[in-house]
Amino acid sequence: MAKNFLNVSCKDCSNETTIFSRATSVISCGVCGATLTSPSGGKADLIGCTVVEALE
Ligand SMILES: [Zn+2]
Repeated sequence: MAKNFLNVSCKDCSNETTIFSRATSVISCGVCGATLTSPSGGKADLIGCTVVEALE
């Protein structure tokens, strides 16, 4: 079973946020506005953040 949610940390400002692992839209950092993920092949492609923890 794939994890549905990821706790990620912004590479630019280290702000942590929870995202849906199959997000179909671009998600931006709520603090600095950096692009965190972009949709790729049905799952979120993490381009501006690193995974802190995978949530059930
Ligand atoms: Zn940020």
